[in-house]
Amino acid sequence: MPAHDVTNQPPVLADYDVAQDATLLAGLHAFGAGWAEPELHEVGRLAGTAHVAEMARVVNEYPPVLRTYDRSGDRIDEVEFHPYWHDLLRLALSQGLHATAWRTPRRSAHTARTAKFLVWGQTEAGHLCPVSMTYAVVPALRHAPSLASRFEPLLESPDYDPGLRDPETKLGLLAGMSVTEKQGGSDLRSNTTTATPTGDGTFRILGHKWFTSAPMSDLFLVLAQAPEGLSCFHVPRVLPGGERNAIRLQRLKDKLGNRSNASAEVGYEGAVGWLVGEEGHGIRTIMEMVSATRLDAMTASAAGMRWAAVQAVHHARHRRAFGALLVDQPLMANVLADLVVESEAATLLSLRLAAATDHAAAGDDAEAAFRRIALPVGKYWVCKRAPAHAAEALECLGGNGYVEESQMPRLYREAPLNSIWEGSGNVTALDVLRAMATRAGTVDAFIDEVVRVEGEDARLDRAVEELRKELVDGEALEARARRITERLALVLQASLLLRHGAPAVADAFMSSRLERDHGGAFGDLSPRADLRAILERAAVEVLGPAQGSPAPGPGGTRSAVPSRGAVPAAKG
Ligand SMILES: Cc1cc2nc3c(=O)[nH]c(=O)nc-3n(C[C@H](O)[C@H](O)[C@H](O)COP(=O)(O)OP(=O)(O)OC[C@H]3O[C@@H](n4cnc5c(N)ncnc54)[C@H](O)[C@@H]3O)c2cc1C
Repeated sequence: MPAHDVTNQPPVLADYDVAQDATLLAGLHAFGAGWAEPELHEVGRLAGTAHVAEMARVVNEYPPVLRTYDRSGDRIDEVEFHPYWHDLLRLALSQGLHATAWRTPRRSAHTARTAKFLVWGQTEAGHLCPVSMTYAVVPALRHAPSLASRFEPLLESPDYDPGLRDPETKLGLLAGMSVTEKQGGSDLRSNTTTATPTGDGTFRILGHKWFTSAPMSDLFLVLAQAPEGLSCFHVPRVLPGGERNAIRLQRLKDKLGNRSNASAEVGYEGAVGWLVGEEGHGIRTIMEMVSATRLDAMTASAAGMRWAAVQAVHHARHRRAFGALLVDQPLMANVLADLVVESEAATLLSLRLAAATDHAAAGDDAEAAFRRIALPVGKYWVCKRAPAHAAEALECLGGNGYVEESQMPRLYREAPLNSIWEGSGNVTALDVLRAMATRAGTVDAFIDEVVRVEGEDARLDRAVEELRKELVDGEALEARARRITERLALVLQASLLLRHGAPAVADAFMSSRLERDHGGAFGDLSPRADLRAILERAAVEVLGPAQGSPAPGPGGTRSAVPSRGAVPAAKG
């Protein structure tokens, strides 16, 4: 007789297709990337494997380590990662989650990429940081056509080629961004790092950056004060010919979450840099990169919400309390459905913004104007909702949700980050006002998009009317920036749900978010909401072990994860 029986513990959710997501697939087709559905399911089946979940756990358990010097005392400034980190990056790049969308001739390539990001984003967030920056660097780098022609093909390569070598001898490259300084990350004009022209077309970069993530990347965009003002520079870790650039990694941040990823304090001690864009217009240039990373910050938050909602629904479908499954208890059904509603609205908004990126890249001015305002709107709101969403989803698992093995604590620690980087909440909301004030047609393009469904739902029509009044009121605009941004986000999400979402989800969204028949916590949908239909959206089917699941990790066995002491550290 065993000492105790294990009962009423839900099975681990593994070996399922993460792309089993009706809203994701509806958006994919609606925004012209239906051709990518087979690929999306491949990514989904891989993302749902138990092995990838294990890799995700391990890379956060064995965070990167800075190696400043080698055994002889020479500076090396390298970071060691667990081998699974490299495996995750290899998988992400092989799926084209980085820069390939910029060169794919297929229609809606950014939408297809964002859909994959929504799926793979449900594995592990840390390694997506360099993937995302490698995606985002391309439009900024194009401001220096000669650099772009040399490096873009390597940034778009599906090959992951770690290690510090002359970038042009590598099979593929990763990029990062190094702009934040101690005295100010939002106020970039306060940057003190200097760039001195050498006379041969290069500049010497001297200064210190307070945050630089993925410091083992091959190249960085760095902001520095040049003679003509703040400018953007391409600064590689290794110079042409193989000599290391004068970039010193001083310390890695001890972070709340995102622990698999290294974020360094960096000294530029006369590093060689090449100008990107016009001298004195560095902020304009770097904003191209920031905009693209904002799309990914929003998408990563949406991915986290979907993962959380699926995990919570799975748990509630298998856990009983007071004689019934949790999912059948009306109050829990309300909480879960509310989480699903939030997640589906975030998914559609991310895909719509990716579609705007596709159209803007193809020269559509109205879509570019729409994207200019809707991107900060979406980034602000989706990232803002993520921490509360993660906390509530965690609670659905009860005490298990507070324990690391559930993976919920990792999600919870990660959740605030997307709202901080690439423009913290206030800064992003203020950018919405800037978009309205400085670019003609942004508000019109935004409203045109929302009123495509005018007359179909009186609640949305009323909310748009209220919003119009908000927008013409010029009083205390800055202090109202969050209010305006939130309302913009809600009407856009409502309009998208009406067009592409499930009727039950759209209806619950209108009542709770637009008509405000809802309190401050999740789980307060109207009792008239069709909770059953909403919950079905996040109930996934387990498929069993996937064919072609990822190559076994270090040690060659799927189950043998080496202990900390035995981990063969590999340099990134
Ligand atoms: C894990 C992590 C990784 C990072 N990686 C990188 C990286 O790779 N490269 C890089 O360059 N940076 C990176 N950063 C830095 C990040 O981009 C900055 O922290 C962020 O931009 C905010 O800047 P700050 O920390 O200086 O805060 P501040 O600029 O001091 O802002 C503090 C607060 O004030 C608010 N605020 C600022 N201005 C206003 C205003 N005018 N009105 C109202 N409120 C305002 C902000 O919204 C924020 O809430 C990273 C940060 C983290 C946490």
